[in-house]
Amino acid sequence: MIGLGSNLGDRAAWLRRGVDQISEFSEVSAVSGLLETAPQGGPAGQPAFLNAAVLVRDPRPLEVWLAQLLRIEASAGRVRDGRWGPRTLDLDLLWAGSRSVASAELTVPHPRLLERRFALEPLLELVPDAVEPATGTPYGPRLSQLLDQEATRLADAAAWCPAFPG
Ligand code: AMP
Repeated sequence: MIGLGSNLGDRAAWLRRGVDQISEFSEVSAVSGLLETAPQGGPAGQPAFLNAAVLVRDPRPLEVWLAQLLRIEASAGRVRDGRWGPRTLDLDLLWAGSRSVASAELTVPHPRLLERRFALEPLLELVPDAVEPATGTPYGPRLSQLLDQEATRLADAAAWCPAFPG
């Protein structure tokens, strides 16, 4: 499961471009609805984000996926100017079923997945019974503790990303 975010320029267009580029690398199984969310961390006053998630079923190593996501981010002109600052396209490997990784470059499930409504809500839309791979703990109940984080659902997948409906 890949999380997508954008808070610069034509945000929905950046996300669609991200989904397109992911689909050139691997078959996209499903796309979530579109959320608008308040920025967390980073510089004060940065614009709101659009967020979504994309499900792919792909056996390649997660490190291969990370390298590909970094290439897609770079091709979207993303400039890395400080942690959690504005970005045209941010791609995160959120969760990979029963697989997990913990290395210097990559941690899956994403280390902040369970703290971020903008990541967990789209993931649970696509895989409602997702569990923590190490423990089998369901993620679903966790979302109810994150609902104080501002998020507005703007569109279903079919409306914002018609090439790949959810
Ligand atoms: P950021 O773009 O600020 O989210 O940070 C990207 C960097 O975080 C990447 O260069 C990765 O080395 C590292 N990273 C660690 N775990 C993950 C993950 N699950 N998904 C994406 N990036 C990750």
